[in-house]
Amino acid sequence: MMTKDDRYIGTRDLGILIQWLGSPCHCRCCHCSLDSGSRVTMVAFERARALADKFVHWRRAHGMPCFSVDLGLGYSYDSPHLAESIAFNRQYGGTSGVAFVNGIKSRCVNELKEHFLSLMRHGVTTVGVTFYGLRDFHNKWSGRNDDFDYMLLASRIAAECGLGRQESVLLSRQSASDLAALMQTLDDIPGRAVRSIFPWDYRGRGKALESERITLPDLADLPESVKHLISLDRPQKYRPEAEWVERIAAGLTSQRQQRYYVVTVWEDNIDELEALDCSGILQEMRDADERLYQAIPSLQCLAELYGHRRGLRLYSLRDLEWKWIDYYLKAHPEIDGTGRFDDLGTAILWRPSEIDQTCTGLAESGQTVAEADTSC
Ligand code: SF4
Repeated sequence: MMTKDDRYIGTRDLGILIQWLGSPCHCRCCHCSLDSGSRVTMVAFERARALADKFVHWRRAHGMPCFSVDLGLGYSYDSPHLAESIAFNRQYGGTSGVAFVNGIKSRCVNELKEHFLSLMRHGVTTVGVTFYGLRDFHNKWSGRNDDFDYMLLASRIAAECGLGRQESVLLSRQSASDLAALMQTLDDIPGRAVRSIFPWDYRGRGKALESERITLPDLADLPESVKHLISLDRPQKYRPEAEWVERIAAGLTSQRQQRYYVVTVWEDNIDELEALDCSGILQEMRDADERLYQAIPSLQCLAELYGHRRGLRLYSLRDLEWKWIDYYLKAHPEIDGTGRFDDLGTAILWRPSEIDQTCTGLAESGQTVAEADTSC
């Protein structure tokens, strides 16, 4: 029998991200959670900015200084509006001063230098760079011929300019054996760097990469120098599917107690967003979220229906939940699934209570709620 559980009882609203996807990306990464290349918004950036301002006034009027308001820029950070978005997020959001480099247009050394110095003038202290494997694999994965060397060059120039680096490495079955050599290559770049290795989210184009998803046995033979960098507990906890299925059956998963709202502005929703007041926008989102989760079975039932009891692939709980919801929605086309978060459109992202970020906004990983959950 399908029973509802209480995992969707919200007790705390963390904040909102107003996301403007008007800045094209120069890559086409296989795992892209934003599905870059499929659609670019024609809505003027100023309208997204005005919407974000409306939420800043609203939180002030409601005495909610801890409710963060971020103005997200995508698909790439290559935009004339970057400085404005950085300044906004520093003032009202939970920004950690990171600017992402993947997907920006090709620049020569001098142009890169100019780009980074300009970011620093606007308060950026760190650049985020993601590698997918060694040269050939990385280039194929990113969809740009020379992307690997470009990311290495960008990392070096950023270091020369005095910027720190947040290096991320995607963990896939094919690239696992390359990781030791990749670490050495990255070690040769001077400057300050924080590095972590983790799987990608089950959303966007990443949904089609299940055969590439890493398993615990895949990791067994990796050298310690690589193993200790693999972040299986930040910002989400990764476990083999079999372990999640067991934990869910035993009631050992945590409730969703924190809501984070993501609003992506498009031609077809901006007029309505402008017409509604902020409380109305949030209420509509909560209603859509509630409708969706009322229409699908509990996590326990989803696990019983779709969970692999001997599954070795590593997932965060939300990856699995999104995957199982996808299966369920496919089997039940009568259910309106537009409010689900894995599409990274306008939706509510639930977070378990143990992932807590206070007003200061900085998570243990150095990323903010918005960066950890919505960066590509
Ligand atoms: S993951 Fe980032 S860099 Fe890659 S295609 Fe998507 S938006 Fe572009």
